[in-house]
Amino acid sequence: MKVGVIGLGAMGVPMARNFHKHGLLQVVWNRTRKRAEALAAETGVRVAESPVDLARECELIITCVSRDQDVLDVAAQIATGIRANSIVADTSTVSAATARQAAAILGQREAHFLDCPVSGGTEGAIKGTLAMMVGGDEQVFERTRLALSAIAGKVVHIGPVGSGQACKAVNQLMIAGVYEAVAEAIAFGQSLGLDMQRVIEVLSTGAAASWVLTNRSGNMLAMNFPLGFKVALHQKDLEICRAMAKDADGATLPVADRMLAHYQKLMRRGYGDEDVSAVFRLKREEHK
Ligand code: NAP
Repeated sequence: MKVGVIGLGAMGVPMARNFHKHGLLQVVWNRTRKRAEALAAETGVRVAESPVDLARECELIITCVSRDQDVLDVAAQIATGIRANSIVADTSTVSAATARQAAAILGQREAHFLDCPVSGGTEGAIKGTLAMMVGGDEQVFERTRLALSAIAGKVVHIGPVGSGQACKAVNQLMIAGVYEAVAEAIAFGQSLGLDMQRVIEVLSTGAAASWVLTNRSGNMLAMNFPLGFKVALHQKDLEICRAMAKDADGATLPVADRMLAHYQKLMRRGYGDEDVSAVFRLKREEHK
């Protein structure tokens, strides 16, 4: 399957590299061209002139951009020339409604759309072990399963278009609570005068073990929060969760509300581009 990747940010670059390792990567495109040129120099693949130039050449087009409007803009550009029966698999995190809109845009050209958001962070993207949740036609998904396994260790078809993003919203809410709990507990442990390296070593094998504890407690202890996953992107995701809950049954999501309040403070203080483990900054201050 000829694969093209659009959006070469923190997630898109390692995903493209893994497609290349599996001999699938054909062409790349990025809004800021120099990022695409750097990857082309490394892999020998072509840099497309535009999203539609890329789409014409590929059977599977992977998109990994930032927000809802970005996905719709890219889908509209691709749709001006995509071949019938090609497949766009969007790995960005956006709302289920946006996934359905993108599918409708591409459907007008008889092309297919799968919402394929991922979890596992930049570490998972580098290792090719992401967890991918897929919404869309099951037969279309089956055509892509092998290629998608180049970037994801676990790929699960959830249901029709939009259900991959709905599943991802569940993930983003869950992880908000985990980040807050890990940050608060580490600040608490420090205030008790414990050797936190040892605390983390033992807790990482017990019932409180989590991806966040294993992969982000080091950032917290060092008070250094490199990307990762930007505060501003998780803020976007939690706003999506709130809107989806409101539409579904009108319920509030207190975990999302609390984390959004933390993110607002961080962004006001200029930390919006830090990794979300920067929530520890606020927890640390509460213990001073
Ligand atoms: P990032 O590093 O900020 O990269 C964003 C990419 O999207 C860049 O290549 C950017 O191009 C491109 N882009 C943004 N708007 C665009 C537009 N309108 N048209 C064309 N290209 C556009 O973000 P990331 O961390 O890779 O995240 C990408 C997506 O994956 C987000 O939806 C995020 O929520 C999701 N995600 C991230 C993680 C993580 O741990 N980072 C994990 C799972 C899911 P430029 O280079 O020109 O800016």
